[in-house]
Amino acid sequence: MERLVEIEKFTAEESSEITLRPDVWSQYIGQEQIKKNLSVFIQASKQREEALDHMLFFGPPGLGKTTLAFIVANEMNANIKVTAAPMIEKGGDLAAILTNLQEGDILFIDEIHRLSPAVEEILYSSMEDFRIDIIIGSGPAAQTVKIDLPRFTLIGATTRAGMLSNPLRDRFGMNFRMNFYSSDELSLIVMQASKKLEKLIDKDAALEIAKRSRGTPRIALRLLKRVRDFAEVEGDGVIKHGLTLYALEELGINSYGFDEMDIRLLELLVMAKGRPMGLSSIAASLSEDEGTIEDVFEPYLIANGYIQRTAKGRLPTQKTFEILKFENPQQGLLE
Ligand code: ADP
Repeated sequence: MERLVEIEKFTAEESSEITLRPDVWSQYIGQEQIKKNLSVFIQASKQREEALDHMLFFGPPGLGKTTLAFIVANEMNANIKVTAAPMIEKGGDLAAILTNLQEGDILFIDEIHRLSPAVEEILYSSMEDFRIDIIIGSGPAAQTVKIDLPRFTLIGATTRAGMLSNPLRDRFGMNFRMNFYSSDELSLIVMQASKKLEKLIDKDAALEIAKRSRGTPRIALRLLKRVRDFAEVEGDGVIKHGLTLYALEELGINSYGFDEMDIRLLELLVMAKGRPMGLSSIAASLSEDEGTIEDVFEPYLIANGYIQRTAKGRLPTQKTFEILKFENPQQGLLE
């Protein structure tokens, strides 16, 4: 089954998404508060002719953290280097990246909560003092060499702010929490992307895709491309409402925006007959790892009131019992 939400970046499909990635503020839809604050900080640091303070973006995958980092770089007229924590295995890997930076460059580290403690340690001094200590050689002949770094800006992105160590979190001057997008915002994103893809799309078709995208631009763009395929093969190439409904049905995306994984998760909770379920039992039943459930599946379902998180575990809400047409043991029988 193709999962429409994935943590991995820059898959073959994603690379074509890069062309859909906005690089100016006017095309970055939503997240108004973040945009407002960031514009002020950018303007202030430009006036002072200083590098921006380090910043952290956090929130579920696909909400626009990487895109935002590219826009910040563009606004600062700075180069951006993009990497992800799992690619920085040793201290030497990080040292190589840092020593290749130039004054004012932006370093974007995705999944920054996954850095190893040894690498994190090096990052501290580079963020704070723009200096790193490198040990050359081993044993009694080992020498510590201090290397000065240019003033750069680190932009960290994470799906799990809770997993960041305190010393690392404290070294970011600014923290931004990304929010899920409204259907209206997503529909603007879909229309903007259709234009780039040179496809005509009806307003109500864009809204239909938006409503089923779990509040997430990356999903909206994927659905748009799949619906476009249907429009090209089974329609006249124009993305119309009727065709969109048909295509979404064929793709197994229901009108609440749930995909198969959401439904499996909600059904599991509903079948527990009012008993809260712990994260580890959910993960075992769905054969998924706990982190993916917490970062990818749950945030949207919790933010939209389908799941409640209690001290004893996860519970479905009344709304979920109604949607899945299950009896809520706490509420008595439903129609
Ligand atoms: P993240 O880094 O949070 O996982 P990305 O920045 O890679 O998410 O965003 C996924 C895709 O969604 C991008 O390719 C981009 O085209 C699109 N996107 C994200 N946020 C926005 C936005 N606010 N406006 C327009 N497009 C967006």
